[in-house]
Amino acid sequence: MENKMFELEDNEVCLCDSNRKYKNCCKKRGIQWLHDGKGNAIRKFSLGEELMENFESLKERFT
Ligand SMILES: [Zn+2]
Repeated sequence: MENKMFELEDNEVCLCDSNRKYKNCCKKRGIQWLHDGKGNAIRKFSLGEELMENFESLKERFT
């Protein structure tokens, strides 16, 4: 099954709970946030390391 991931929009609030906009937060530090629109998010580091995390709050935001 294909699992399409979307990058967080620049002006969306960052997923790391900083309450800052993505472009002023993790994106600036070389961390990319991807989500599948179903409550699953991946934090992707410039090193290529990937962390799969489940965010309950995303379910409310993207449904
Ligand atoms: Zn952040």
